Amino acid sequence: MEKNIRQLDDIIWQLDLKVDNESEFIAPYLIKAQNDYIIVDVGPTCGIKELIRQLETLGVNESNLKYVFLTHIHLDHSGGLGTFMESFPQTQIIVHRRGAPHLVDPDKVLWQSSLDTLGWVAEMYEKPMPVKEENIISIHDSTFNIKVNDLEFNWVETPGHASHHFSFMLEKKGIMFCGDSVGMLIPSLDSAMVPTTPHPYRLESGISSINLMLERKPKMLAFAHHAIRNDAPNLLKKHIVQLELWKNCVASCLDRKIFTEEDIGIELSKIDPDSARLLNAPDNFGGLRKALVGSITGFINLIKKEREQA
Ligand SMILES: [Zn+2]
Repeated sequence: MEKNIRQLDDIIWQLDLKVDNESEFIAPYLIKAQNDYIIVDVGPTCGIKELIRQLETLGVNESNLKYVFLTHIHLDHSGGLGTFMESFPQTQIIVHRRGAPHLVDPDKVLWQSSLDTLGWVAEMYEKPMPVKEENIISIHDSTFNIKVNDLEFNWVETPGHASHHFSFMLEKKGIMFCGDSVGMLIPSLDSAMVPTTPHPYRLESGISSINLMLERKPKMLAFAHHAIRNDAPNLLKKHIVQLELWKNCVASCLDRKIFTEEDIGIELSKIDPDSARLLNAPDNFGGLRKALVGSITGFINLIKKEREQA
């Protein structure tokens, strides 16, 4: 098997799209349900050609790819969906009701807001193409259940990182596909786990989402960026502690008139070894580091807003 495709167990593969030549960055999961397939997130437009090539290698085609499950509609997860669907016209997309309109009309809000928040990273991802409404199953409730052949998936709304975020548990394996709602976990940086809290991050929702996942008793977590790990309960609890640590640190920085993301990053590195590993990582972790800087911005804005309202 080529090195960009990793078979994780008998029915799950991780496909590394090597966007911007960076590995461990954009990595959709492929799940096999008897003779059919499900893909979890498709990545940005610039990675679709490579994604389709990898799927062909694995024997996935337009008649056996039944579903795209979207964790949320940020460009790194679903930006390439319109382009992808040209090759998979019969595949159904399951997405949060708040995300669905932006898939159909990405020009209106999604593209512009992505340019504003991500800058060069959005340009590198490339513009999203529209998705046809008839392919979309929009979920209106806070939970959802679907059986695909022998596999049962239970969905739970997990806002915080995004208001349109779902996580879902593959019951047979006890794997919770948590998208970006429990941060990122980077295997080659000694499994550093860091927050994904871009503006407008909502800490209270983020923590209650993690508690909802804990209640489902997952055994494993499948991070969108970018690994499946055992010991889900401890990772979930560890992340809540980390979010609180970040909040206190960023608040204390603002009190001490430390305002820039770069300087706040230095302070965070002193108290959070996981974050230090990514902030001090080599250049080939540029996209992930940019995401981490965006997470610092999210905390700065969240604390400022809280103080304005106090
Ligand atoms: Zn992401």
